[in-house]
Order: sequence, then structure tokens, then C-alpha cells
Amino acid sequence: MKLQKPVTVPKIEIYLSRIQQLSQERDDEDWEFRSWLKQYAPDDIDGLVKTWSQKYFALIDCTQCANCCRSLHIEFEESELHSIAKTLGQSIEAFEKQCMSEGKANPPCPMLNGKLCSIYENRPEVCRSFPHLEQPEFTSRLIGVIDNVAICPIAFNAFEELKAKLAWPHA
Ligand code: SF4
Ligand code: SF4
Repeated sequence: MKLQKPVTVPKIEIYLSRIQQLSQERDDEDWEFRSWLKQYAPDDIDGLVKTWSQKYFALIDCTQCANCCRSLHIEFEESELHSIAKTLGQSIEAFEKQCMSEGKANPPCPMLNGKLCSIYENRPEVCRSFPHLEQPEFTSRLIGVIDNVAICPIAFNAFEELKAKLAWPHA
């Protein structure tokens, strides 16, 4: 890993309104960084991103946020849909009619109860892995990452740390 010296780790941002504002202000910067990453990301980029993802998962309390559950159109697997409809005591047809459009659940997610997931132990895979920082081939998923940076404090802070710690010339 190539580090710039000295490296200043950005201060952690946890407030959603501030993260949204900063993401808008840094939109051009984020796209420039994406282009740079496509060419110059170090070989161990997936491992680095995983490390920072785990760091911010430990620092940020999802149960005080739930912004992903409130704002995303979630696409469930067919088997997950069966299980969710059963949990809610509905037929799949009724669930789709009430809670979905174009194959995705309308936000806020119908399983969200306050800021908690009512089916947490059985939540779908897409929810378990969100914001998907720990999946392989990070640099092939950067458009989705930039979308998630604007809504998820974990993604936002991990991406900012990545900008600061890699030898990106604009950092
Ligand atoms: S199923 Fe649970 S974790 Fe997934 S979006 Fe809905 S409330 Fe959130
Ligand atoms: S994954 Fe991100 S957006 Fe979702 S609850 Fe946790 S911090 Fe909030």
C-alpha cells in the first residue's frame, strides 16, 4: 500500500444531513477519485476497504441510523420474499401489491420498526452486506459505492479515509 506522508485521517461524520451536504459538495471530487482508482488502486484494495468498513461498522451504530432501510428500494430474492410475506402473515401477492413496485420494496422498508429491522435475524442478504464494502472487486462497483456514500455514514467515512490514505494526488 502506498501512503502519503503525513496522513491526516478525516474526522468522522455521523450526522446524515451533514453527510448529504458534504457528498453533494464533493460529488466532482468523488468521480475524479473513482477514475483514479480505476487506474491506480493498489492490489490489496479489497482488503483495505474491508478494514475501513469494519472500523466504521464498529464506530457507527446502525440502530441509530436506519437510513438505508428508510431510503433504498430493496430488491429481494424470491425465497426471501416468501419468507418476508410469511413473517408478515400475508400472501406474496398481497405483499407485492401493498409494498412493492417494479420488483422492489418501496421505502421505507415495510419491515422497519422505528429504527430497527423487525426480521433482523432473517434479513435478506442484500441488507446484511449493505453498504457492500466488504465484497470483492471494489473497483468494479464504484458507481454504487458513490451512490451509497451519500446515504450511509459507514460508506461515507470509509470512502473519505480511502481518499486520504491512498496516494491520490488530489488528497
Ligand atoms: S429487511 Fe430489515 S434490514 Fe432490510 S431494508 Fe428492511 S428493515 Fe432494513
Ligand atoms: S448500513 Fe449505513 S445507512 Fe444503513 S443503518 Fe448502517 S450506517 Fe445507516
